[in-house]
Amino acid sequence: MTDSSTTHEADEPVVAARVVPATVGDVVVAIDIGGTKMAVGLVTLQGELIDRDKVDVDHRLPADALFGTLNDLISSQLARARDHHHLRPVAVGVGSAGPITPHVETISPLNIHAWKLYPLREKLTVATSLPVFGDLDAKALALAEGWLGAAQGKESFLAMVVSTGVGGGIVLNGQLLDGASGNAGHVGHIIVEPNGRRCPCGSRGCLEAEASGAAIEAITGRPPTSPTYEIMQRTGRLVGRAAASVCNVLDLDLVVVGGSVALGFGATFFNSAQETLDEHAKLSFARGARITSVRLGDRGPLIGAGAVAVRGIHRARRARAARASA
Ligand SMILES: [Zn+2]
Repeated sequence: MTDSSTTHEADEPVVAARVVPATVGDVVVAIDIGGTKMAVGLVTLQGELIDRDKVDVDHRLPADALFGTLNDLISSQLARARDHHHLRPVAVGVGSAGPITPHVETISPLNIHAWKLYPLREKLTVATSLPVFGDLDAKALALAEGWLGAAQGKESFLAMVVSTGVGGGIVLNGQLLDGASGNAGHVGHIIVEPNGRRCPCGSRGCLEAEASGAAIEAITGRPPTSPTYEIMQRTGRLVGRAAASVCNVLDLDLVVVGGSVALGFGATFFNSAQETLDEHAKLSFARGARITSVRLGDRGPLIGAGAVAVRGIHRARRARAARASA
């Protein structure tokens, strides 16, 4: 019997060249949950985002009322799928700010205080009667960029999100890494400044404690939307330092970076990050590693949530096939 659970199958959304055409007419409901807004869209099994809507997170609402605002969007997108696009919703995919428990059984986004261990998967299952698949937002973004974005066709790469916080997802040999609890890829907690600032995780000098939007504001007193040249350079340098460590450890030559801070800092940030990566990626296999910006722009998070659903559908199908042949 082949071990299908560890084999990268032809139609998983990691390498677009391998995606086979799906049944015409199926669509997944993609949900992106961030600290300030929630978005819901429709993504075809080929990764096209064909519809979307969003709502601000109302921090005054209790848990279930907040879910109600999300569910209104879901209901309207489900109706649009059937009535406007004439497509059949077949699954729900979620990319959520962390922490989460595997498959979004529960989510506890740091910036949504009403949701602590909120049973999202069950709520979505009841609301939609569809299979629900979910993962961390940065891992979802890694899937999206590997499927159709800046890492298209790459078997191995690191994706990073430098925003209010710093997250990441690692694709290695065609597989998105999960780790024991689903939290693989937390590159925000690579130490970049020994004896640096205290991090919310309890350690010191983590990338997130030095280079996230929240850290930049705390250190400089300036919002990351109005940075000085030095701040943009330093942030790039620290991200490049962390990226080099990951490239050296995992034999990678591509780092894809998104998030409002990185993209807002633009060329100054990316040049500084590349320079630092060049300085620290000296092993023969890591030399020449590139750092580049995400390519899917603001569609990335929803395409990523869609990719999580497509990946889940294929895994469930493989598991059924394995059971049938056992
Ligand atoms: Zn930390």
